[in-house]
Amino acid sequence: MEVTDPVCGGRIPLEIVRAHEEFAGWSYFFCSAECAKCFRENPDAYVGDRPGGPPSVDAGR
Ligand SMILES: [Zn+2]
Repeated sequence: MEVTDPVCGGRIPLEIVRAHEEFAGWSYFFCSAECAKCFRENPDAYVGDRPGGPPSVDAGR
């Protein structure tokens, strides 16, 4: 399964996910601690373009 890193926009296999954060009830996954840090500092900037949207996990793919 692949997930989308909301900070850098990259698609990453779950096996290489380096960090994850919970925000507004969703789990977000990151390719690196750097991306996770950016998200933690300003989550609204990264979640804003998917209002009410699905989490970064694309289930069923
Ligand atoms: Zn990233």
